Amino acid sequence: MSALSESALPVPIAEALHRYWGYDALRPLQREAIEAEIAGRDSLVVLPTGGGKSICYQIPPLVDDRLDIVVSPLISLMKDQVDGLRESGYPAAAVHSNLSSAERQAVRAQLRGGDLRLLFVSPERLVGEEFLDFIGRLGVRRFAIDEAHCISQWGHDFRPEYRRLAVLRERFPQATLHAYTATATPRVRQDIVAQLGLRDPEILVGIFDRPNLLYRIQPATDPQRQALAIVQRHRGEAAIVYCLSRHDTESMARFLKDSGVRAAAYHAGLEPTERARVQEAFAQERLEVVAATVAFGMGIDRSDVRCVVHAAMPKSIENYQQETGRAGRDGLEAECVLLFTYADVMKWRRLVEKSAANAPDPEAVAATQLELIRQMAGLCGSAECRHRALSRHFGQAYPLENCGACDVCLGEIDVLPDSTVVAQKILSCVHRVGQRFGVGHLVEVLRGSHARAIVDRGHHELSTHGILRDLPEAALRNLVYQLLDQGLLAQREGEYPLLQLNDASLQVLRGEREVRLLAPAASRVSQTSRGSAEWAGVDRELFDRLRDLRREISAARGVPAYTIFSDGTLREMARSRPTTTEAMGRIAGVGARKLVQLAPRFADAIAEHCTARGLASDLEPLRPRAAPRPNPRKEAAMALFREGRSLAEVVAETGRAPSTIAGYLEEFIARERPASLAPWVDEATFEQVISAAAVVGSQLLAPIHEHLGGRVPFEQIRIALAQWRLEEPEE
Ligand code: ADP
Ligand code: ZN
Repeated sequence: MSALSESALPVPIAEALHRYWGYDALRPLQREAIEAEIAGRDSLVVLPTGGGKSICYQIPPLVDDRLDIVVSPLISLMKDQVDGLRESGYPAAAVHSNLSSAERQAVRAQLRGGDLRLLFVSPERLVGEEFLDFIGRLGVRRFAIDEAHCISQWGHDFRPEYRRLAVLRERFPQATLHAYTATATPRVRQDIVAQLGLRDPEILVGIFDRPNLLYRIQPATDPQRQALAIVQRHRGEAAIVYCLSRHDTESMARFLKDSGVRAAAYHAGLEPTERARVQEAFAQERLEVVAATVAFGMGIDRSDVRCVVHAAMPKSIENYQQETGRAGRDGLEAECVLLFTYADVMKWRRLVEKSAANAPDPEAVAATQLELIRQMAGLCGSAECRHRALSRHFGQAYPLENCGACDVCLGEIDVLPDSTVVAQKILSCVHRVGQRFGVGHLVEVLRGSHARAIVDRGHHELSTHGILRDLPEAALRNLVYQLLDQGLLAQREGEYPLLQLNDASLQVLRGEREVRLLAPAASRVSQTSRGSAEWAGVDRELFDRLRDLRREISAARGVPAYTIFSDGTLREMARSRPTTTEAMGRIAGVGARKLVQLAPRFADAIAEHCTARGLASDLEPLRPRAAPRPNPRKEAAMALFREGRSLAEVVAETGRAPSTIAGYLEEFIARERPASLAPWVDEATFEQVISAAAVVGSQLLAPIHEHLGGRVPFEQIRIALAQWRLEEPEE
């Protein structure tokens, strides 16, 4: 802390703090931020979520006794802040598109009367000509830009409308600009300064580490059960379980409730009254656990959240930091557990590619977002202290050797002995094969294979041939992926993902950089849930192999792994080891289409495994396939959908109304998550509907229908939306 902060607070600041907030002291950097505003010096303030950014721009206009403007990206955020301020008697208001004209007039009257100290406004509203004139006449001399990282396309939440804030510098050359954000990567920071045209800004960066949070990152084997076990460790305490999609929040909440936890789902698709009800119940401690998308959090003012679970990987470390930041805001200990699978990474990649297509500069946006995903996946797949890794991401050194508050430092994770040496062996093999081969070939060389492809190229004579022959193939692959995830090895984009060395690889090879690798999955996972009854009789080695196959297929098709076969289905396969079509057909989760399209490859892998290990195959499955549901017509329709029959065909064959059949299809999509929608909605129509929904909203069909000039039938809109709701993580 600087000498400045240690001296007594100036009286007007202390008075305001006491009067409106009831606080006696400022937190680190708040004073510096407030004084920069009052002194009329541009500033960039980077404080972690919960660090107390808002007071920094709320106090100066009180001290100077005039009106300042705050730019804020979301109406809900603005509303919450204004409500909170008014609650304490602070004269603030917001203008946004949800105001009635009476409310708008009331605000204008207050403004003209000089009563207000802060006016919150969205960026698109602010930069309108008329509005700029209006605030020009009011003599505004200070603008605070909240969530300023939204201006940078290198950030995790780029909003093109923020770019237009550049106009402030031109229109108000006398005013000062003050940017606030929780995103501290140096690149984003520079971009904010450049885009807003900040003049010699005071740059204040807070400490990002949250010492009271205990971080754990574990492979997701059965996220619902794992989440249950975690929240049960915090019985009677507040917990948030973050899920990616609305659908996932609902099934998570149901599962927790069925297991006796007071839980509810929360997402942006709920009715406003229901959302308010859940928030209130949580705030009033009638609810312990909220299973939520990222939509939950902004309005939460519960500082005693003791546990945050991520049932799936968030799309960036910034998001992770923000969401885990909601735990332990009272400074007391809290636990954050992230459950991770490679399928989450695939899902995010696919979504990014899809949504980037609509951005002004699709390639750059996609590349940035993919890099953020890669960094997040790297954190999950690494054995570096979590506190240290997070601090490093935010450009800060971490002082402790052992944090005592993460799974790595607590020794809960199996670190591979001699990780650095193993990494060096792998990397030097990449070098020996001329950086011209993919993972499969590399692994064969390292294991000392004499397969044709190896011998023909003379790779059996390389010095690295067979230097890791003790490791099983799956384990070696996993280690190569970890190196990729940690950025210690690169992969060429495109059709042939060849492995290539980068600067970090060279540092490792020269012994300038330590590497920590996780002991490969199989041994690690067995500590968590593989000991449970779910795993009785399951051939774990085979299970891993089938998972690898699933990953390969899903990567090739660009779909999430679970849409191929669920873990439950793979487990069942690894238990009863089906090798024929007939035996495959008895496995729950192998529908008609998958039986034809996917099952054969799995059957082959199983047969190979059984032969190699001398195991019996085609045992009786432990769990019978799900019994048919009571509604035979619906089931008939479902069966036809499973075969990929079109809507019109199913209508004709079942004799039911198109809207009924569309309803069944929605249910089918939700229940069985078909790998493709092609039989019902083509890709182009799907994209059209989704882009239309982005413009006119997704709650009602009619506006979308109209927006698309009536070209797309209602049934198709319904189906496209059903799929989209299922997969769309919330922003
Ligand atoms: P941020 O916008 O940085 O995420 P907020 O401004 O919402 O954080 O502040 C987080 C919480 O900390 C709020 O409940 C706020 O009232 C509280 N807070 C902020 N400054 C102080 C302070 N100086 N003393 C005590 N509590 C504070
Ligand atoms: Zn640690």
